Amino acid sequence: LIEMKGVQKWYGGYQALRDVNLTVRKGEKIVLCGPSGSGKSTLIRCINRLEAIQQGSIVVNGHRLDDSIKAIDVVRQDVGMVFQSFNLFPHMTVLQNCMLAPIRARRIGKTEAEATARKYLERVRIGDQAGKYPAQLSGGQQQRVAIARALCMQPKVMLFDEPTSALDPEMVKEVLDTMIGLANDGMTMICVTHEMGFARQVADRVIFMAEGQIIEEGAPDAFFRNPQHARTRQFLGEIL
Ligand code: ATP
Ligand code: MG
Repeated sequence: LIEMKGVQKWYGGYQALRDVNLTVRKGEKIVLCGPSGSGKSTLIRCINRLEAIQQGSIVVNGHRLDDSIKAIDVVRQDVGMVFQSFNLFPHMTVLQNCMLAPIRARRIGKTEAEATARKYLERVRIGDQAGKYPAQLSGGQQQRVAIARALCMQPKVMLFDEPTSALDPEMVKEVLDTMIGLANDGMTMICVTHEMGFARQVADRVIFMAEGQIIEEGAPDAFFRNPQHARTRQFLGEIL
């Protein structure tokens, strides 16, 4: 579903991704971890075409990402993204937040967009909050709305960038549970997170990055029990 080959990314003179190769199959769940500044956000932002790359290639659902309108369109429709800060539109209700992109980008009628929005709001167990504004919700509720909003575009893959790290501890679980539900439904997911319990429970592969490179990857069991690289061991020692 996603194929990154030889990806190099610079911010001016600073190289943020170094020869990144990553293949994600349909239905796979990937957890991406690594120290601050290692390029995790950059990597997933490249998959979403929020960042351009300078070398290598990224293919999403059969479409090579380049500067064409077509590529941008594909990415906007096929790739859902959830950020650390929920990024909901504050002047719109929960329901309106969920209806906007499908109406604009997928050219879906209002009635259908509303039905879809209500369906996914139910699915993240927040259907009763549809008429509220984001500021009237807790952080955990806002993040679940952000997940529902992304799902309304019927994406083929969901990218999560530290979706729980801005939340109070008591709200982390409700968001992780929502993500676990999504994983169990077969969604293809790439999650940047340091929630290693989630990684153990859900991930097919855990990938460790440092200094813009993929250092090591493996099934969660092996990855946590027997990390191969000193850099990985050091990182795990710091966060576990
Ligand atoms: P964190 O865990 O803190 O979120 P990260 O692994 O997500 O870190 P990135 O945000 O991908 O790291 O950043 C990788 C490197 O690229 C960092 O050194 C960062 O300073 C740099 N960087 C990120 N975005 C930009 C930008 N827009 N312009 C210049 N440099 C950037
Ligand atoms: Mg980041």
